[in-house]
Amino acid sequence: MNTKSDFLILGAGIIGCASAYYLSREGAGVTVLERGDTAFGTAGASGGLVNWITCAESQMELFMRSQDMLEHLQEELDADFELNYNSYNMQIISNEIEWKASEQLVKDFKLPGFEAHLIDSEESHRLEPSVTDDMLGSIYVPRVHYLNPIKLALAYRRAAERHGAVFINDAGVTGLMRDGAAVTGARTAKGEHYAAVTVNCTGVWSDKVSAMAGVEAPIHPIRGEFVITEPTEQFCNTTISSAQYQTIVQHPELFSPNAIKYNLGFSVEQTTTGACIIHGTREMDSGLDKSVIPEVIELMVQTAVKFIPRLGKLKLMRAYAGVRPGTPDGDPYLGFCEGVPGFCECCGHGGEGIALSPATGEAMAELLLKGRTEHCDISRFSPNRLLGV
Ligand SMILES: Cc1cc2nc3c(=O)[nH]c(=O)nc-3n(C[C@H](O)[C@H](O)[C@H](O)COP(=O)(O)OP(=O)(O)OC[C@H]3O[C@@H](n4cnc5c(N)ncnc54)[C@H](O)[C@@H]3O)c2cc1C
Repeated sequence: MNTKSDFLILGAGIIGCASAYYLSREGAGVTVLERGDTAFGTAGASGGLVNWITCAESQMELFMRSQDMLEHLQEELDADFELNYNSYNMQIISNEIEWKASEQLVKDFKLPGFEAHLIDSEESHRLEPSVTDDMLGSIYVPRVHYLNPIKLALAYRRAAERHGAVFINDAGVTGLMRDGAAVTGARTAKGEHYAAVTVNCTGVWSDKVSAMAGVEAPIHPIRGEFVITEPTEQFCNTTISSAQYQTIVQHPELFSPNAIKYNLGFSVEQTTTGACIIHGTREMDSGLDKSVIPEVIELMVQTAVKFIPRLGKLKLMRAYAGVRPGTPDGDPYLGFCEGVPGFCECCGHGGEGIALSPATGEAMAELLLKGRTEHCDISRFSPNRLLGV
């Protein structure tokens, strides 16, 4: 089947689905090509934290816009994606070195309305009885939200379909159609698909699609591992992480080689079904291999159990890994590519793609339909920064 539409989105991950929704909401004709099914890539193996403290300052405008949009997104999309809005995140501090690093982190973050504070172990335990009081304290991070990323991707997709977008599964892009320098569409085993603009939303695989357009947009894969426990009654009020990430980077001499290699920490969320998700490793330049390394899972779970003892009583049901689409400077690639008319990048969101998906989708729709963005300035994320343009 060949198709022709206004916009061709490559990849039905969180970013492709969000872009398809915001474009189709404005009446644009959209076709989405996905080599598997919705959330087949990183979005299907992701945590669902929307946490400003892990977001680079360069991306805070996108974050803040996303946060505002998220508040009403379930109603807008007419879907329940298990949003827990305006909760908080607790980052466990286990020693003096982490306390110092955390003090600095909290002091350095200077955006009005975004403040975190250090609280002692007693206060931490009072707020979140599931954490042990056998630790120094925690960073209390207010205004944090969390959600189910797969359900959010599906919610964008279904809403986009209601606005007429067409999603084609099992349609991996094998090449791009060209008219001179311009990209005019994409080729798949399911036919040729033409559009005025082709948008590359293929996440950690996007460098390969960029290369098909002759564009160099490097992606640095960052692998993370997950464990899911059996469901149990709700005992965890919020998301709990470890402040160890900062310390590992600043004081590697204090950690084992595996802890450094996998940037070991943990993040725990209890879903509405009662299952706990434990994740949080960050293996830089890991490659695309999604196999699970048992020693890493063991280390991560041990660390989490040390601070949330109740986890140790739960059966581990399954483990899996996902790969974050990192970029050399940590910022995504958003926008048209110099010298390649009809080709636009929308990828490279690293560890924040779920959180930034609303504002990213909206900004892409504005850029593609109006030639400029209205809510967020995305010019700093132009893929042309790599060319010095
Ligand atoms: C362990 C871990 C924890 C995370 N936790 C969080 C978190 O708490 N909060 C947060 O905001 N973010 C988190 N992230 C990051 C987030 O998951 C990613 O930033 C986000 O999923 C990237 O979305 P994407 O749409 O760009 O990529 P993807 O979701 O990977 O989508 C890309 C899609 O493109 C498809 N594709 C690839 N090649 C082709 C091709 N040739 N043709 C057609 N389709 C193709 C893939 O199948 C895939 O469906 C986490 C990631 C990991 C790994």
